[in-house]
Amino acid sequence: MTSPEPARLELDCVIVGGGAAGLSAAVNMGRMRRDVLLVDERDRSLWQHEIHNYLGFPDGIPALEIRRLGWRHAAKYGVRLLLGHVATAARDGDLFRLRIERLPEGGAFPQGPGPSVPRDAEMARMFGEVPETGPLDVLARTVILAPGVFGHFPEFPGRNECVGRSLFWCIHCDGHESIDRVVGVVGHDDDAVQTALDLLVFTDRVTMVAGRPEGFDVPASRLADLAERGIATHPFAVAEFENRGGQMQALVLDDPSRTRIPVEQVYTVRRTRAANELARQLGLEMNEIGQIMVTSEQHTNVPGVFAAGDATNLHDHQISAAVHEGNQAACGANYYLYPAGK
Ligand SMILES: Cc1cc2nc3c(=O)[nH]c(=O)nc-3n(C[C@H](O)[C@H](O)[C@H](O)COP(=O)(O)OP(=O)(O)OC[C@H]3O[C@@H](n4cnc5c(N)ncnc54)[C@H](O)[C@@H]3O)c2cc1C
Repeated sequence: MTSPEPARLELDCVIVGGGAAGLSAAVNMGRMRRDVLLVDERDRSLWQHEIHNYLGFPDGIPALEIRRLGWRHAAKYGVRLLLGHVATAARDGDLFRLRIERLPEGGAFPQGPGPSVPRDAEMARMFGEVPETGPLDVLARTVILAPGVFGHFPEFPGRNECVGRSLFWCIHCDGHESIDRVVGVVGHDDDAVQTALDLLVFTDRVTMVAGRPEGFDVPASRLADLAERGIATHPFAVAEFENRGGQMQALVLDDPSRTRIPVEQVYTVRRTRAANELARQLGLEMNEIGQIMVTSEQHTNVPGVFAAGDATNLHDHQISAAVHEGNQAACGANYYLYPAGK
């Protein structure tokens, strides 16, 4: 039996990713009365956590709630919202052709880095999403890539409950929540060392664990900086991230005596991976760590393709930056759509 021909649409813009960057782009494009489709596989950065350091929300706001409001906001201006996975993207004459596929059972990354929210019908209703009907081919005059990154946290039992409650990665987001807490930093490189030092603004009870058998990958002088500031260092992997009910309790070291370090909070400092497969397919320029290179107006090196949010090289990775970059990407795409000379 042959598989059915995919349905086709022709649009002003396809936005890949329905996080803060993609939704911000969608709102702006919608307000410019462009014909827009936003596709999201609803994964990553959608843990059950609160967002802090975002203007207007002094008590924080759940990440889920920002998304829900963003979908509603974009839908108000006629943006089509689709739950699905954009699998391929390529130039097709003056247009771009994108293939949207149904999500596999259990989500986009069944064994992957961090599915965080249930994918049930109630959640879809809450988000105002149209369930996927793919496969679907779409043609678009412009593309905005806002696919985010993944890989902030190691995998361990209970991790999903701890994220955002007692397991963090960014001191701009959560450092203020660490005031006077007992904190463990897990990471082996200079970024990790710097995070441990920066945390001293909030608490003087910081311990560092390399989090890998090879130990630390920094000059001895950096470890001396830590010792001088009262931060103990342990050059071992973590055998167990002990936690209960979303609360980190201890880091158990993979050393001969299985040393147990009691903690209230853990920061993991790891290199994230940009979700850049589509960028690669479109021939976008990326830096050495796979972030999409963009100008301050979110142009990539390919005319008609824009990128925004965590996946780019541009700003610190926070909601405020993602919202800004998404908005700018929409401005860029909107101007690109005006006929030349007008
Ligand atoms: C645990 C945690 C806590 C955080 N806390 C804070 C905080 O307190 N304050 C703050 O300012 N920031 C915080 N951040 C950072 C903030 O969440 C990110 O900067 C922001 O979400 C980035 O938005 P984005 O749209 O670029 O990416 P994301 O929010 O990651 O959205 C990208 C979306 O694109 C989808 N996608 C990717 N590829 C495809 C594809 N091929 N097809 C379809 N969909 C696709 C993904 O599934 C995802 O839904 C936190 C992040 C994490 C992980």
